[in-house]
Amino acid sequence: TIHPTALRRPNAILVQSVNTRYTQDHITATFHNRGATVDVSHGQFTVTPTIQSYEFQTQRTVGKTGLMMIGVGGNNGSTLCATILANRHNITWHTKSGIQHPNYIGSVLRASTVRIGTDGTGKDVHVPISDILPMVHPNDLALGGWDISGVSMDKAMERAKVLDYDLQRQVAPHMALLGKPLPSIYYPDFIAANQEARADNVIAGTDKQAHLEHIRADIRKFREDNSLDRCVVFWTANTERYSNIIPGVNDTADNLLAAIKESHSEVSPSTLFAVAAILEGEPFVNGAPQNTFVPGVIELAERHQSFIGGDDLKSGQTKLKSVLAEFLVNAGIKPLSIASYNHLGNNDGHNLSAEPQFKSKEISKSSVVDDMAKGEHPGPHRGDQNTSTINIFNECEDSLLATPLILDLAILTELLTRIKYRKVSAEIHKQEFAPLYPVLSLLSYMLKAPLVKPGTEVVNSLNRQRNALETFLKACIGLESNTDLLLETRIW
Ligand code: NAD
Repeated sequence: TIHPTALRRPNAILVQSVNTRYTQDHITATFHNRGATVDVSHGQFTVTPTIQSYEFQTQRTVGKTGLMMIGVGGNNGSTLCATILANRHNITWHTKSGIQHPNYIGSVLRASTVRIGTDGTGKDVHVPISDILPMVHPNDLALGGWDISGVSMDKAMERAKVLDYDLQRQVAPHMALLGKPLPSIYYPDFIAANQEARADNVIAGTDKQAHLEHIRADIRKFREDNSLDRCVVFWTANTERYSNIIPGVNDTADNLLAAIKESHSEVSPSTLFAVAAILEGEPFVNGAPQNTFVPGVIELAERHQSFIGGDDLKSGQTKLKSVLAEFLVNAGIKPLSIASYNHLGNNDGHNLSAEPQFKSKEISKSSVVDDMAKGEHPGPHRGDQNTSTINIFNECEDSLLATPLILDLAILTELLTRIKYRKVSAEIHKQEFAPLYPVLSLLSYMLKAPLVKPGTEVVNSLNRQRNALETFLKACIGLESNTDLLLETRIW
């Protein structure tokens, strides 16, 4: 039954089905998870369809949400803040091609749609993804964060050289109100030496436990000052070198906490930020390629049932490469080699000119087409003389691609903290709803090296990642995913 006063948002979708229940506080939907198990023996595939039903419960009220970025004074951080402020204050600006209006183009959640069904005349009906479930509007995000560079946010935007001058000019007074980033943790060993010149805003001392407490206090204060219900902590600082995984140091949650107490040299700033967020019960997302999530962090997130997601934003080259690889493999064509040259001109490009930091990027980019290539049929392609070559020249402004991803990741992360589930069984009413698993692999669409539940397979295919996201969001309101079968158009 549908509670008549349940729909608070006028534009919300109302699903009329026995599978979907609305109350003042929650949307609860039953979802039938269909799969198949395959038994292979002597070349015979025996397939058994499976079905397990779940209930998803989404809290309808979107709390006041904050976004604290580490590296907020960088190109991505300053561009995202300026974008949100330009939208919030509806700042229009002149370019040589006319007047521009602020928007959120590039955001999958805000600017792309999903098909929810057909109308009376058989035409498809699409809605913005952000309408499927209650999600925080980017204009409502409280903005803050840390940077080792103490340049104020208006000057940081100017330094980044990303936005048009007329937009910068008008948004600058609003950016100035954000003030200076909070001082941050700086361990020179983890980022390139060429970053040292900007490190004038650092937390004093070398005591890592004290640094952890400092960051935790920053998060608490930001939450209080802005009356937040949720605060997403997001690493968009420079790429660090990889941390060595050392048994007894960062392999378990307890060892990691002890290593922080001893100020062990292998604990990176990003790992300290992740631990701080987890201990504060706030989600942490890593937008850079380094291995912030050492095994001890994942165990700690499990222990505290605190959400984490990463790694590395999937913005330009990687996204294009993986989409093309998938298209070729699905067409029955085997890519023999993928060679790419990436010319990075910005400050993180400068940081990546140092070998240990570049290594992190290399690792993150290395396996992006592996799972797609695995689906290939082992046909006689190799050695075929009729080879084709595809050359692509792609020029883009990195931060303009990256900022919508940060936004989508923050919005989706906040939403996923409000969704709980339980298995449908004879005993269902005795079961409590439980939060999702702490590693948010549903964020994979926006990430280059998706972090997944240990022991499960990584999906890099952009189509499959988007499909998973769409299916999940629809499942939460009791809708089946699109099959694109359109059977009614194929039969009499
Ligand atoms: P940027 O160099 O302009 O900004 C990074 C900021 O982080 C700088 O202001 C720097 O002072 C600050 N910083 C460094 N170490 C810090 C620390 N320990 N604590 C707080 N602040 C610190 O770089 P960017 O172009 O904004 O990219 C940011 C990150 O996003 C990089 O790691 C990059 O690899 C990653 N990334 C970017 C893209 C993209 O398309 N722009 C894509 C994938 C990943």
